[in-house]
Amino acid sequence: MTSAVPPLPKPAMPARPACAHCRDLADDSRRREPHPCLALRSTAPLVSQSAAGVPFSMMAFTCRECGTGWRLYDRANELFVSWVPEHPLVR
Ligand SMILES: [Zn+2]
Repeated sequence: MTSAVPPLPKPAMPARPACAHCRDLADDSRRREPHPCLALRSTAPLVSQSAAGVPFSMMAFTCRECGTGWRLYDRANELFVSWVPEHPLVR
């Protein structure tokens, strides 16, 4: 006798786990270099100003491995940049 196992319900939007490169980047979000799987999404960086009037530029990247979207913020006169994932990383 075999009993049929009901299939698990599939979520509408399956969350894709972040790859090791993206997890590393999230843990070290002030380094300047993109990780090797990141592809620049737009050619021209967006240049704007923060609420405090500090100019910054933003570039958008997508990971070729796991599809995570990243924004790289680079503020004027700052040594460090910040990488911000567009959605919370799935680990
Ligand atoms: Zn990734």
